[in-house]
Amino acid sequence: MTPTKKRRSGKTGAVTRRVAVMGAAGRMGRTVCAAVVGDPDCELVAAVDPHHSGLDLSSVAGVDTDVEIAADVRSLDDVAVDVAVDFTEAAAARDNLRWCASAGVHAVVGTTGLSEDDVDDLRSLFTTSNCVVAPNFAIGAVLMMRFAELAARYFETVEIIELHHDAKVDAPSGTAVATAQRIAAASQDWAADPTEDTVLEGARGGTGPAGIPIHAVRLRGLVAHQEVLFGTTGQTLLIRHDTTDRTSFMPGVLLAVKAVGDHPGVTVGLDALLGL
Ligand code: NAP
Repeated sequence: MTPTKKRRSGKTGAVTRRVAVMGAAGRMGRTVCAAVVGDPDCELVAAVDPHHSGLDLSSVAGVDTDVEIAADVRSLDDVAVDVAVDFTEAAAARDNLRWCASAGVHAVVGTTGLSEDDVDDLRSLFTTSNCVVAPNFAIGAVLMMRFAELAARYFETVEIIELHHDAKVDAPSGTAVATAQRIAAASQDWAADPTEDTVLEGARGGTGPAGIPIHAVRLRGLVAHQEVLFGTTGQTLLIRHDTTDRTSFMPGVLLAVKAVGDHPGVTVGLDALLGL
């Protein structure tokens, strides 16, 4: 299978990307399928989701398509795919991405729970096609991380509180970890935790890069939210982002689908694609 073939869309004159969605029956996958079908410069050519294989994607995702859901990424060996979008779970994504790299298919990865070692592995795998991995495709969340990075050197204490729906299986969120990594890279000058007596194990949250505490809340009714709380003498700064609907991620996903072919190797985060 060859990487992106240039095709002109009849509607806009732009290049049409042939897109496959991994995890197509999931909460994010269904939203991605709808966004791809609704984009005049994209064509949804395949969908993978093991427990829904053989079903019509139209009935599962409620989108206008004749694509049938496949059981395994290897079923796509004979399908011409330019970009595969992965919103599955970490173990599945590792396998799917190995296939993408070996097939020369560009990848856009939203799945969280991938470690820095995983990203290093992706860097060695993606040599003939490219990969964009973003812990958060919502533009507001990308800006939240950037603002937190800018604020870091003016404060001595910081804590991250991420809040998600009650079906999220990994903790803390990829966004929270990425935010802590960026704050830690911007400043290492953080006050020591004053806690001497932990009455309840875990009360101070998980310990992220540079000792930054990360607290994960799981609550029915939430979608995806994060607060970055900075403090210094006499003042605090709260940066908060709220995703109230999964469609918030779609402009970022479609941006990555269209830009991934122009960004060689592995790109982490949307900053480079947004010119931040
Ligand atoms: P979800 O509803 O559980 O969907 C995941 C789907 O992937 C499920 O339908 C699952 O099937 C399927 N799947 C499992 N293994 C697979 C494989 N090998 N190939 C293809 N599909 C497979 O989860 P979600 O809420 O959509 O979230 C998916 C991921 O996206 C999570 O890691 C989440 O943290 C992340 N996320 C990222 C962003 C971002 O902006 N980067 C935003 C929101 C969510 P079964 O359930 O039948 O096993």
